[in-house]
Amino acid sequence: MKVSFRICCLLIAIWVTGLASGFAQGSGQPQKCGTSALMDRLFSQNPDLKARFDADHELASTNKVESDSIPLLVIPVVFHIFHNNGIENISDEACKSQVEIFNEDFGKYGLATNSNPVSADTRIRFCLATVDPDGNPTTGIDRYEDINSIFYDVDVNEEAIMKAGSWDPSRYLNIFVVNTINYAAIGGTLEAYAYYPGAVANTWRDGVVTRYYWVGRIENAIGMGRVVTHEVGHYLNLFHPWGPRDDSSCDEDDEVDDTPLCEFPFYASGPFCLAPENCGEYRQIENMMDYSEDTCRYMFSYGQMLRMRNTISRLRGTLVSGENAVRTQCEQLINFQPTQERIIPFPNPAQGNFMVDLSFTNPEPYTLSVYDCYGQLMYQKVEDSPVRGPIPVSLTDYKPGIFWVILRTKTKWYKEKVVFVR
Ligand SMILES: [Zn+2]
Repeated sequence: MKVSFRICCLLIAIWVTGLASGFAQGSGQPQKCGTSALMDRLFSQNPDLKARFDADHELASTNKVESDSIPLLVIPVVFHIFHNNGIENISDEACKSQVEIFNEDFGKYGLATNSNPVSADTRIRFCLATVDPDGNPTTGIDRYEDINSIFYDVDVNEEAIMKAGSWDPSRYLNIFVVNTINYAAIGGTLEAYAYYPGAVANTWRDGVVTRYYWVGRIENAIGMGRVVTHEVGHYLNLFHPWGPRDDSSCDEDDEVDDTPLCEFPFYASGPFCLAPENCGEYRQIENMMDYSEDTCRYMFSYGQMLRMRNTISRLRGTLVSGENAVRTQCEQLINFQPTQERIIPFPNPAQGNFMVDLSFTNPEPYTLSVYDCYGQLMYQKVEDSPVRGPIPVSLTDYKPGIFWVILRTKTKWYKEKVVFVR
């Protein structure tokens, strides 16, 4: 796939390569993830947790191959929304959308369908809990109206908020949704973070903290939910591809064999999602644990899958136990089979005219756009009524090359490549 990007957009590739020395942290992009910085802070304040992490670290690095029949592991999820009745008080639907995204991203289906040779269906799935720790019915979405909570600050009220919200972390993945995440040490805000389980599993720090606008892919969400997927990767013990420290080098690794070495954060952006060379290899910018835009990242690797599942077996056995699945009424997911919704341009290759077929279970109004490989909009159609397809597209003044077909609905986003030939 990277080869096709280079053929398609050679000039842009050269331009990006020319910027290589400046595209790390000086790119003006938001610091998306605070995990590395906050692990350093945690260890400096709690040497005992450093010792605990180091002891687990040795075990985490031995990623043995599992048997051929990999059992489905189900993680019950609860969202704790801390709000002051503002925009941060996101809807139940946004939270449900995020759980759907988790299942696609960890299950390699839906918008995470891909043919990358090292990508894996992790066989890890997520379920919005319907029973709370006391055995009472719940939506799996817990709301706390508290004016102080909207000024979430790692140094000031992290402990109070996480302790106030946390449900038994050995039985639930706790996701804390807040307006902002202040952190004085960087003189600004973080977007999201999660501590590594080797240090904090089954304690009040165990879970994911995120700003509200990363949750889901509907309403006020500004991405495709993959910032929160990335944090769940940390929650399951994945490092960034450049290793556990942000000031990394090519000598450091994420301890996963099938993710190439790299030495700093990189912000790949759509629609081209170009992968630069780094440490002698092309970066795996499509990996969930890199800092690419959500449209560019869509996969966990096979090695990451092994590392996550080994971590679960070591530290999160109760969480994924059959007994916990029954207790939280998530057991129906154990035989879960995903739908494979996608768009299919045909014929492909085409000569300017083609159809877009839809495999949607529930058709929705949509916007269909076609971009050339330089990002120029070539065609757009807005349809206000639900259409099942196929949708005809006619581009009479076309040039041979690679084009991107993007279809957006209110809740979903699909992308496919179409090749134009003479
Ligand atoms: Zn991260």
